[in-house]
Amino acid sequence: MLYRTVPKTGEKLSILGFGAMRLPTRMGKIDEERATKQIRGAIDQGVNYIDTALPYHGGDSERFLGRALQEGYREKVKLATKLPPQSVHTREDMDRILDIQLKKLKTDNIDYYLLHGLGAESWKKLCDLGVLEFLEKAKSSGKIRNAGLSFHGDRKTFREIIDRYDWTFCQIQYNFLDENNQAGTEGLQYAGSKNIAVMVMEPLRGGMLSTHLPAEVKQVYAKAPVQRSAAEWALRWVWNHPEVTVVLSGMNDEGHIDENIKTCQTALPHTMSDAELATVTEVAGLYKRLMKVGCTGCAYCMPCPSGVNIPMCFSIYNDYHIGASHLIARGMYGGMLMGGVMAGRSDASLCKGCGKCAKACPQHIAIPQELKKVNSTMGGLRTKILMPIVRMMFSSEVKE
Ligand code: SF4
Ligand code: SF4
Repeated sequence: MLYRTVPKTGEKLSILGFGAMRLPTRMGKIDEERATKQIRGAIDQGVNYIDTALPYHGGDSERFLGRALQEGYREKVKLATKLPPQSVHTREDMDRILDIQLKKLKTDNIDYYLLHGLGAESWKKLCDLGVLEFLEKAKSSGKIRNAGLSFHGDRKTFREIIDRYDWTFCQIQYNFLDENNQAGTEGLQYAGSKNIAVMVMEPLRGGMLSTHLPAEVKQVYAKAPVQRSAAEWALRWVWNHPEVTVVLSGMNDEGHIDENIKTCQTALPHTMSDAELATVTEVAGLYKRLMKVGCTGCAYCMPCPSGVNIPMCFSIYNDYHIGASHLIARGMYGGMLMGGVMAGRSDASLCKGCGKCAKACPQHIAIPQELKKVNSTMGGLRTKILMPIVRMMFSSEVKE
């Protein structure tokens, strides 16, 4: 296992982190026996960073980890969990939720504590309620060791948040299709320049970059200078960036866990050759050509006065058409329809057609018209019948 150093603390973290968001399930519940074996097996092979959050598996992920990390495993890992903005209504809620999380995780401290899924709106809400004072107090009491944030907003908001507090780390969505989406490469480098460790989520873009590959993409990989799986190409590309500390993978298949652990034995920064990087650039270009909407995720169109998360609508819509699991894409869109892990609804049906966004779009996308297509494809009955499951999976109800 390779380890990278958290710049502000010197702590060494495994470059592969275990994401406890998509654990194996049986009859709708976490398959505890199998998931425990997977997590402990990964720890035995050197993984020392485990990431969860209050809403994962309807609140059961934290509870499960509390049990799975018994028998000495808690001491072998750094544990990360998150404060869900949608469950916070008062300053007191923050203390109450953290105490519940400590109890569920059967620990007296969280190593890496994040404000969950921040965007402009949720950041403002938490700041107004006193979240920075909460983080200071939680650190000085020893309940959390390091403060960070996970992020799904636009680049301008990312910089504002990064500049506002002495964060140890942040967590961003990053892969070879999201260089210009959300925090993007610019955000990654900005965080790196401030000595902030960067944990990367969605390195395979919800599985889109590793499964159901379009035929054109398979052809490019087939003539590449080295032969490796699509997952390995995507993960190596992320690890090739020196600013990246940990890459999180929501693993639930023994074969994938073994493959990822094998890949990360040699994934040092700046080790991909020009020819290998050219392969990834060609694949990224193909995906972009296959996308339904040529949105780069720049977010110049944001904020929408009606609350639509325009880049996220297009990102999910594109993923749906390129090869992402339809179930995952619909689940994510269902999250936007009901508020999901973000604060408030943000789906395409909220668009009032005012046209403000289209004037700001450098790609000249007819945004309101495209959002209508997003809504008719993604917002129908097939998504709505999934919503009770999504609600259960991402419940923000705080239960002990
Ligand atoms: S056209 Fe629709 S998406 Fe664009 S700013 Fe107006 S309401 Fe928002
Ligand atoms: S719709 Fe246009 S302005 Fe909005 S994120 Fe996409 S490319 Fe940027």
